[in-house]
Amino acid sequence: MSSPTLVSKLPQVGTTIFTVMSSLASELGAVNLGQGFPDFPMSETLVSLVYKAMRDGYNQYAHMNGVAALREVLAAKIAHLYGTPVSPDTQITITPGGTYAIYTALTTVLQPGDEVIVFEPAYDSYIPNIVINGAVPIRIDLQFPDYRIDWETVKQKITSRTRMILLNTPHNPTGAVLGPEDIRQLRAIVTGTRILIHSDEVYEHLIFDGIPHQSILRYPDLLERSFVSFSFGKIYHCTGWKLGYSVSSPSLMQEFRKVHQFNCFSCHTPSQVGLAEFLKDKDSYLSLGPFLQQKRDYFAQLMTGTKFSPLPSYGSYFQLYKYDRISDEADRDFAIRITKEYGVASIPVSAFYQSGKDDRVVRFCFAKKAETLERAAERLQKIK
Ligand code: PMP
Ligand code: GLN
Repeated sequence: MSSPTLVSKLPQVGTTIFTVMSSLASELGAVNLGQGFPDFPMSETLVSLVYKAMRDGYNQYAHMNGVAALREVLAAKIAHLYGTPVSPDTQITITPGGTYAIYTALTTVLQPGDEVIVFEPAYDSYIPNIVINGAVPIRIDLQFPDYRIDWETVKQKITSRTRMILLNTPHNPTGAVLGPEDIRQLRAIVTGTRILIHSDEVYEHLIFDGIPHQSILRYPDLLERSFVSFSFGKIYHCTGWKLGYSVSSPSLMQEFRKVHQFNCFSCHTPSQVGLAEFLKDKDSYLSLGPFLQQKRDYFAQLMTGTKFSPLPSYGSYFQLYKYDRISDEADRDFAIRITKEYGVASIPVSAFYQSGKDDRVVRFCFAKKAETLERAAERLQKIK
């Protein structure tokens, strides 16, 4: 009897590079500076607050939109940081991670044939999320080596079918950040059109050198037409929690919740109760940028002893390095060889392009303990 067949909805998709490199690192016992996750412990206070929430009996379904106290503290934080009043009742929904928030936003909006502007290198879930909804990715390369958006090209690519522009600041994998001029250009393009925005801000707070984060939440006129996605896991050093949230206008959020309602419905309750308490202390988020900046700087200092050349990182917890003084291999071959021969895993940046565009740069994650960064640098120094 022949087994049932199906037509793949994502025929082009293989295993994500993060899983490939992490598996290789663990198989070989390599230092893993590839997949983006911290190897230092998360806040003991937050762990205790979640434990307390469980002990206090917060173990049943949360409200579909998220625990009210958490949405309230987030609204207060948004008002404090960005000066925009956001309703916890109608504009914030807690989600099982940033990836889910992005997927849900795109699924809420996209109809077959819609065009979506996406900048590459792009976080790996964006294009499959567009394609699975029958929409069409319109890919635009960020400008190597500073990874700026060329807004003239964006204008040329806009058509009557353009439905959405996807942004990501601070940016994975490059560490680039948007500035006020980018927002001005964006506004000029979308105002008076049907174009919506998705802004992936999972690295909110992880922005360095005193640069202000250009959150869409600063701009009520843009928020009217935007979904903004966040991740608690990413910024509170607990990527395994898979908890995040989406912020939007009341009318867009109403539609988002229809999709969310029949997918995960509601998220892990005790984590939300713990976070609601934890976020009352502003230091819980204001301390994050300086903490990661110190790690970026320490890693950069260690890397001066190697033949890698850094590109600037203004945010996120990644830094790109060129290896042209070592080899002219393709970045994927280079990343795999360095993992095997020298025991340090990285991520080849070509994996973030559909075209496989290869500028011969690899991404290192510096959200690691000092000793991990030291061990990695010591090994990388041996590469001649
Ligand atoms: N967007 C970007 C740019 C990311 O790097 C990540 C990494 N995890 C996510 C979204 C997803 O966040 P989460 O782990 O909360 O799903
Ligand atoms: N965001 C993480 C990274 O860029 C990985 C997330 C994942 O493995 N899906 O490394």
